[in-house]
Amino acid sequence: MNTFDTRVDLRNRSSMTEFLNSHFRYFTLHSVNGATSYANCVKVHRLGLTPAQLEQAWQMLDMPVVFHAIRDGLERWAEARRWEWQAHFRGRSSGYLVLCRGGLDYERAHTAQCDECGKLTYHTQDVPCTGGGCNGTLRAMEKPVPQVITWPGKGVDEHEDWSGWDLGSLRERARLVQDFDRAGDEAVATFVRFCDEYRVVEKTVSVPTQVRVLEPA
Ligand SMILES: [Zn+2]
Repeated sequence: MNTFDTRVDLRNRSSMTEFLNSHFRYFTLHSVNGATSYANCVKVHRLGLTPAQLEQAWQMLDMPVVFHAIRDGLERWAEARRWEWQAHFRGRSSGYLVLCRGGLDYERAHTAQCDECGKLTYHTQDVPCTGGGCNGTLRAMEKPVPQVITWPGKGVDEHEDWSGWDLGSLRERARLVQDFDRAGDEAVATFVRFCDEYRVVEKTVSVPTQVRVLEPA
């Protein structure tokens, strides 16, 4: 399995700038927008998987449970950075993991949450849930929940002139990008674990349905 984690001498300015300048980059939104950021290619055939893993990999890509496990890990990574930095899949087949900027929007924070379906709204008093078919109650929260926002069109360190950066700031940036690389490794490791430990099998399930039949009176 290939890894993205790269050794960098965090005491050495040129080691850090070389790491940052030579890091692979990809579009934060799409090529039309043109903004780019640090990224890693996570296309299945580029991960250095064994033939056995590769055989499972293509089928695993379609499994929601696999996708959710990977996404949860990346969300925890972003949450630990107060969502200021987030890792998102980009590209036509989501083949690239890109470091994006973001944050929390407190102005449009949700103020109520349904006690049944979890839906978030802006109600300030308890009201019946507005979610279709939900019998829960939207309860006003003591502490509003800010919305996570992503600035997908924003580039990161494009043609950055590092000479204006002091060593401490430079080290912080190099560490962040190293961390981002490790988060990518972690996401790939999660994916590979599923390939190693599970098989995708087709199953026929019977779903109960209501039908109307005639019975002798
Ligand atoms: Zn509800």
